[in-house]
Amino acid sequence: MLNKKINKILIGTNNKGKLKEIRNLLPKNIKTLSTLSYKLKSPIENGKTFKENSLIKSKYFSRKTNLICLADDSGLEIDILNKKPGIYSARWGGKNSDFNKAIKKVYNELDKKDTNWKIKKIKARFVCALSICYLNKKIACVEGKIEGYISSKPKGKNGFGYDPIFIPKNKKKTFGEMNFVQKCKIDHRYIAFKKIKKFL
Ligand code: IMP
Repeated sequence: MLNKKINKILIGTNNKGKLKEIRNLLPKNIKTLSTLSYKLKSPIENGKTFKENSLIKSKYFSRKTNLICLADDSGLEIDILNKKPGIYSARWGGKNSDFNKAIKKVYNELDKKDTNWKIKKIKARFVCALSICYLNKKIACVEGKIEGYISSKPKGKNGFGYDPIFIPKNKKKTFGEMNFVQKCKIDHRYIAFKKIKKFL
């Protein structure tokens, strides 16, 4: 089964923003299914790295559905916050995944760290680990990153999560100000996808 070309894949995420991006990256001949339509809750992410958590999700959703699963674990690392929120990026939004709350927490933590942070370049990066598993077997696991800076205020209404506060290196706009096509051509998920597409 694993040596055959994949023609059907479950996308292991309950995050609509990620689902849209991953669907857009996959070749059109691959039928995609989503964990949202299976009404599957996400497993506890108790890994220590993005890669470990993406493997936990991919194996878990594959076991639950008996389908090959592509799962993502991603987040924002801010250097002066010792790479926080990192693997806790979703959890900073609280139980309801409230991204405004998560962004407020980022700004609060930055204020605590350095009152002048707004006039400095605050280095950050988005990281995305992608894994493909069938049941408990790992088919592939890769990571992609995009470097950038934290915007002194949220800008733009596009995208999801921390998009309004992240400015990619050498760009002037936040991800939240870019349109879907512009963001998806450069982001961490796209970079990870380039590494994993040979397994599809
Ligand atoms: P998880 O991988 O489901 O644990 O969640 C990752 C979290 O990181 C998301 O809920 C977002 O808050 C954030 N995140 C990951 N990728 C992106 C992105 O492309 N834009 C904005 N936020 C992101």
